[in-house]
Amino acid sequence: MVTTFQDLFNHAELGFDPDKLRAKYREERDKRLRADGNEQYQEVVGDFSRYVDDPYVEPGYTRAPVSDEIDVAVIGGGFGGLLAAARLREAGLESIRVIEKGGDFGGTWYWNRYPGAMCDIESYIYLPLLEEMKYVPTEKYAHAPEILAYSRRIGEHYRLYDKALLQTEVTSMAWDEASRRWILGTDRGDRIAARFVAMSNGPLNRPKLPGIPGIKSFAGTPSTRAAGTTPTRVEVPTGIFPSFTTSASASSGRERPPSSASRISARPRSICTSSSARRPRSTCATIARPIRNGRASFRKAGSSGAWKTSTFS
Ligand SMILES: Cc1cc2nc3c(=O)[nH]c(=O)nc-3n(C[C@H](O)[C@H](O)[C@H](O)COP(=O)(O)OP(=O)(O)OC[C@H]3O[C@@H](n4cnc5c(N)ncnc54)[C@H](O)[C@@H]3O)c2cc1C
Repeated sequence: MVTTFQDLFNHAELGFDPDKLRAKYREERDKRLRADGNEQYQEVVGDFSRYVDDPYVEPGYTRAPVSDEIDVAVIGGGFGGLLAAARLREAGLESIRVIEKGGDFGGTWYWNRYPGAMCDIESYIYLPLLEEMKYVPTEKYAHAPEILAYSRRIGEHYRLYDKALLQTEVTSMAWDEASRRWILGTDRGDRIAARFVAMSNGPLNRPKLPGIPGIKSFAGTPSTRAAGTTPTRVEVPTGIFPSFTTSASASSGRERPPSSASRISARPRSICTSSSARRPRSTCATIARPIRNGRASFRKAGSSGAWKTSTFS
């Protein structure tokens, strides 16, 4: 009879010693852990800022700044933003703007287009809204182009291109107590007042460069896993993994007159969403840095300014 947990792992029966194996894994892991953590990376600023440029849009796009008031501003057009906006549409909301710095929807799958890119979670689980969209992925692990096309399909299906501000980066967000609205500023001079903000700006939307010696003076063409560069360009400092990507439509801030329909509750609340099927839902990152890294989240502050988060499904 098994009496202790240890008995379950009878070494003789197992044919190996789990403790030794565990120690070996720990040892190997420790070899890879670095004390400098995130500090090991080169920030994509200054000379490296080109890595955050969007290679999938025609340069030179301009438009007049937008100034309006809406019910919900959705920051980010990846799965998180698409899902949040789609659910809001289903709930009857019309006055929504998705604001996305890339040239189209898709998020991760917009930016990452390296050859062979595909999801590593089964498409049937990973892709959101499959039943609603009546869509069956063509592969168990869909390739990136299909996921990107599917993202656009969601955008069309839920009319999320209406009022979307593409090629537009949210650069500021402040709660205005007087009007009880979030005031969002963008790199295109927009001023959007929103009752609610769904932050879906993604956890991995910014590349990290390795802080290897010589990266600043390297004169060749770095190979990135984005922008369709191929792994055959081996002249490169290895490990540069900016990730990015398309825009067929190069759609740009398609607009529609703001709708007066407003069925959303005025009650302040915040909801944190995560679009990733496999990654654990986490609490929302605060936007201490101008909205850059973080998980999809709904934000609505009360007067205290303290964030409340809860899952959204
Ligand atoms: C190469 C790659 C492969 C992956 N494969 C898988 C997988 O197989 N399975 C899995 O579960 N997960 C995978 N992931 C994780 C993936 O990031 C998530 O599954 C999911 O796509 C994230 O969606 P998101 O909407 O939260 O964020 P994102 O897809 O990153 O979308 C966020 C969007 O917000 C925009 N944005 C950010 N800041 C601003 C701003 N200030 N203003 C306007 N727009 C802004 C960004 O441009 C981006 O388009 C992968 C990630 C990468 C990089």
